[in-house]
Amino acid sequence: MVSSGSSSASLTDGRTLFVGGAWHTADDTYDRFDPADLSRPTGTFAAASLEQVDAAYDAALGAQAAWAATPAVQRAEVLRKTADLLEAKAEEGARRLTSDMGKCIRDARGEVLRSVAILRYFAGELLQPAGETYPSSDPSVLLLTVEEPLGVVCAITPWNFPFAIPVWKLAPALGFGNTVVWKPAESAAGSAVFLTEAFAAAGLPAGVLNLVTGKGRTLSAGLTGHPRLGALTFTGSSGVGVRLRQAVADRNVKVQLELGGKNPAVVLADADLEDAAVQVTRGAMFSTGQRCTATSRVYVERTVAPMFRDLLRQQVEKLVIGDPFDDATDVGPLASAEQRDTVAGFLQIARDEQAEVITGGTIDDAGGCFAAPTVLAGVGPDSALMRDEIFGPVLVVQEVDGYEAAITAANDTEFGLSSALFTKDIATAMDFIKRTQSGLVHINRETASVEPHVPFGGLKGSSSMSREQGKAARLFFTTTKTVYLRST
Ligand code: NAD
Repeated sequence: MVSSGSSSASLTDGRTLFVGGAWHTADDTYDRFDPADLSRPTGTFAAASLEQVDAAYDAALGAQAAWAATPAVQRAEVLRKTADLLEAKAEEGARRLTSDMGKCIRDARGEVLRSVAILRYFAGELLQPAGETYPSSDPSVLLLTVEEPLGVVCAITPWNFPFAIPVWKLAPALGFGNTVVWKPAESAAGSAVFLTEAFAAAGLPAGVLNLVTGKGRTLSAGLTGHPRLGALTFTGSSGVGVRLRQAVADRNVKVQLELGGKNPAVVLADADLEDAAVQVTRGAMFSTGQRCTATSRVYVERTVAPMFRDLLRQQVEKLVIGDPFDDATDVGPLASAEQRDTVAGFLQIARDEQAEVITGGTIDDAGGCFAAPTVLAGVGPDSALMRDEIFGPVLVVQEVDGYEAAITAANDTEFGLSSALFTKDIATAMDFIKRTQSGLVHINRETASVEPHVPFGGLKGSSSMSREQGKAARLFFTTTKTVYLRST
């Protein structure tokens, strides 16, 4: 049962469920607090019940046929209008994002504008060829393929890119004619409400996008168990992703998982070391290290290691840490008290294992969720610091005896999202591109910077291997019908 429908959302009374084109609250609610100052509330959110998840599926199913039959030109127009509305309210959106999860306002503005660009990209992509013709062995037959939507898509998203990740799923999912049940992360729900309001104001028909706020674990069975679920697109931690895939494995549900990373950078003796230190610092520390593509391991050739470590320390110590709403800040708080405690646990491991602290190593929990950007050395290859995703501003440096040792160590991980090589030697760069076991490869660039119009995704334990963004999104969010058209 869905209670108290309304035409406007509210973060003060938990009216944050958007089902069937109206805003609702739930019997249970939860409160969130600004991660830069945990005494500052940021909103009250509905903790949906399983019945409300069902109602969201009913609404999505009810709206599906009409939305799929809406001409792509009109669906594109809704995406374009959503982009215009978001752009007009970009500053407000960025502030919502920052108060949700502490991303620096500069980066938050960039993320909102990137979401605008993604919406516009898919508005254009919808008008690209949507099928192919083939020569038939029968001269009376026109042999062609047409694309069709998958039906109802469940999108489950993380908190670290509260606008960009949902938009790169929702824009193609909706654009190609699917309807959606969307479950954002608890700590990104304010941004999710903002984004949903923009889609609704742009004229998306009732039931086409349904927002369900609440705890993932509580809602899991409802989200994955619906018999009419057509596809599941998930970005988040590896453990949860694997469990979700198992939950739908015995049904014909198309699954896309984008998961964790433990991304390496290799710095060779011939690299521009100063530039490499700048890039690696950005890759490791921006967004407080909370990017799936963040650099977390650096393998540096032994002959230049002392110099590189020094350059790295200087770059890291230049970063301005503090109030995420201040334009000058480079590194804000971790996203929540839970994230702070996780990072604190890894720093305790560093102490227990007597790792060398090149810089940082501390947590500042006086009212906020701050961790100092940290560079460690002297960590063994089997330490959790080298194996597990930390998802915080913590980087480990290891010295290696040349390129072969570096690539072997870089590939020695269950993850495979992004990697970087710093060198001036083109032959080594080409070899690295072939042998690195990651879905994204950067030469002389940090691991975390990506563009939105090209395929994105990982190898090994970082992904289900389907790709997101760019033209790859069409492959996931549509299916193909092959038509033999014969005149009599
Ligand atoms: P998470 O796995 O804890 O949560 C992701 C989403 O899943 C949230 O909406 C959460 O509520 C929901 N969820 C949690 N348990 C669930 C369950 N049992 N059933 C259904 N839903 C459930 O991840 P997070 O902490 O929000 O995000 C950080 C993780 O996301 C990191 O591991 C990071 O690497 C990964 N990530 C990956 C990419 C990528 O593209 N590869 C991008 C960003 C983040």
